[in-house]
Amino acid sequence: MIGDPIAHSRSPLLHNAAFDAMGLDWVSVAFRVPAERLAEALAGMRALGIKGLSVTTPLKDAAAACADELTPLARRLGAVNCLTWRGERLFGDSTDGDGFLQALRRGGGFDPRDRHCAVLGAGGAARAVVLALAEAGASEVVVVNRTRRRAESASALAGAAGRVGAPEDLAGAELVVQATSLGMAGRPAALPVDPGHFHGGQLVVDLVYDPPVTALLDAARVRGAHTVGGLGMLVHQAALAIERWTGAAAPVEEMWKAAASHAPRAS
Ligand code: NAP
Repeated sequence: MIGDPIAHSRSPLLHNAAFDAMGLDWVSVAFRVPAERLAEALAGMRALGIKGLSVTTPLKDAAAACADELTPLARRLGAVNCLTWRGERLFGDSTDGDGFLQALRRGGGFDPRDRHCAVLGAGGAARAVVLALAEAGASEVVVVNRTRRRAESASALAGAAGRVGAPEDLAGAELVVQATSLGMAGRPAALPVDPGHFHGGQLVVDLVYDPPVTALLDAARVRGAHTVGGLGMLVHQAALAIERWTGAAAPVEEMWKAAASHAPRAS
């Protein structure tokens, strides 16, 4: 696992729970890799025979540029969160979008087909979610972001279903996904939008998983919305990475148990 910062990452915990359950003598560890040393880290990965890498902020775009091959999805996103050697070739994929959809179905019982969706944010995670929702058949994906230019680029990933919106548009969405970095533990407390736009009948998902219940989810709950935190996406994107690296089905239930037993307490 590489990124910067990386000390907070729970992914090695999930990977190692999976390897144990699969009876594999493998281990996952986290390395802090500054962006300017990514190429060196990948050369080291090759020299050391490391089978795969999970890639997180801020390295996802640069890692895509370093891969020899990309899945069509990773090419469209211009980002990868999962690298695997296939012989001498480094293969890049993005499991964030599918991990998000699996968590959405499991945690929220929500199928995006023909549904009105809104995404707050336009960074790497938001882009993966926008594309995943569109590919899953959402009738509309509205992107609301502080920086309009990035919102335009993210909403374009959804094709005809995508558009740039304003906070007021959230009231008309059946699903709202909070994908900004606001709300993370250790950061100044601030909400990305006025929670007055939330109401009963909506599903509000926050990709932030620490704390498990963010201030935004708390405010949405108070207004009657159903809410889901970010731990499910973390588990499912990690399970999909395990499948890329090992070629075997990941023990998702064991990974859920590991995530739950080490989950930060709700504040
Ligand atoms: P990123 O690429 O850095 O994007 C950050 C986003 O947050 C941008 O849209 C940015 O808006 C917005 N933002 C930052 N500060 C803001 C502020 N003060 N006011 C309004 N908007 C602000 O980050 P990322 O990689 O997409 O990650 C976003 C979040 O998703 C993080 O909390 C991360 O932990 C979480 N995540 C969770 C999972 C999971 O498995 N649960 C997976 C991936 C990411 P601008 O465009 O205007 O700068």
